[in-house]
Amino acid sequence: MAAGGAFEACPLCGRELQPTRVRAFDRLITGDGPFTVRECRSCRFGVTDPQLRGGELERYYGAPYCEGFYDHADAAPSGLLERARGRFRRRAAARRFARKPFASPGLKPGRVLDVGCGSGELLAHYAALGWQTFGIDPAESAVAAAARAGASVHLGTLDDQPWPAERFELITFSHSLEHIPEPLDALRSARALLVPGGLIAVTLPNWSCWQRHLFANRWFHLDLPRHLQHFSPRALAVASTALELEALDIATSSTVISVAYSLHYVIAGRWTPGWKLWLAYALGATAFPPVAAVNALLGGDCCYALLRRPAGAATS
Ligand SMILES: [Zn+2]
Repeated sequence: MAAGGAFEACPLCGRELQPTRVRAFDRLITGDGPFTVRECRSCRFGVTDPQLRGGELERYYGAPYCEGFYDHADAAPSGLLERARGRFRRRAAARRFARKPFASPGLKPGRVLDVGCGSGELLAHYAALGWQTFGIDPAESAVAAAARAGASVHLGTLDDQPWPAERFELITFSHSLEHIPEPLDALRSARALLVPGGLIAVTLPNWSCWQRHLFANRWFHLDLPRHLQHFSPRALAVASTALELEALDIATSSTVISVAYSLHYVIAGRWTPGWKLWLAYALGATAFPPVAAVNALLGGDCCYALLRRPAGAATS
């Protein structure tokens, strides 16, 4: 990485990164910015510029983000609308977990590790299916919430994880890989933790989707500067090839809520709880049928990969 916190070249393929028109502020917590994204046009992979690291990022993961936005808090929400939002989120999560890449034919319960496990919702889903559940998260509030959900959780990252090689049948990254400073290193570490034939399931926003072009700097999934990288199906394929992981399935998927959140940023400019948020939910619900139709044609706002460590392959 060059001085000033910017990658000089694409971390996936080494080609030169090109400027984009993205100039966006942190709309969720601080209002800081603008941050920009440079991209590798070959991999369709974006890199946030500047790349904040370690302590520089702490102020962008305040309590409102971790405990409110991702429901790490122990206390139940109080208002009627907040409770409705919580129910919607849980139902949407359950639907997401029941689909690819988290559900896959022939996937039998074993040991699953969720990297960036947050409040442990995905692990609770696997526990109910008979899996032994393990998690990693750098946020103390997340670790406490995931432990309450019954998982064995390591406070930290893949760099300091405590497990021996070839420990897990499945490792999941649910909207976490884009927050990790060195995503290829993270996938390489995960590969070493997999039994031969074990699977890695990744979901994250789709940098090459039409919604990103439509909403531009107000696209909800930009989430600068927390999203350090911006993947696409092509970038996931390049990464899997580089790491000698077998790509069983790479595709796009659609989330319902992100349209409402992008509309919220169009209306309010930044995350603003209250009537502007509820208006965005109403508009998002109205807009979703046509959005879903265009997603089906042009690809969804998120993408996923189900990758397999080849059976008999050495740890690299
Ligand atoms: Zn590249």
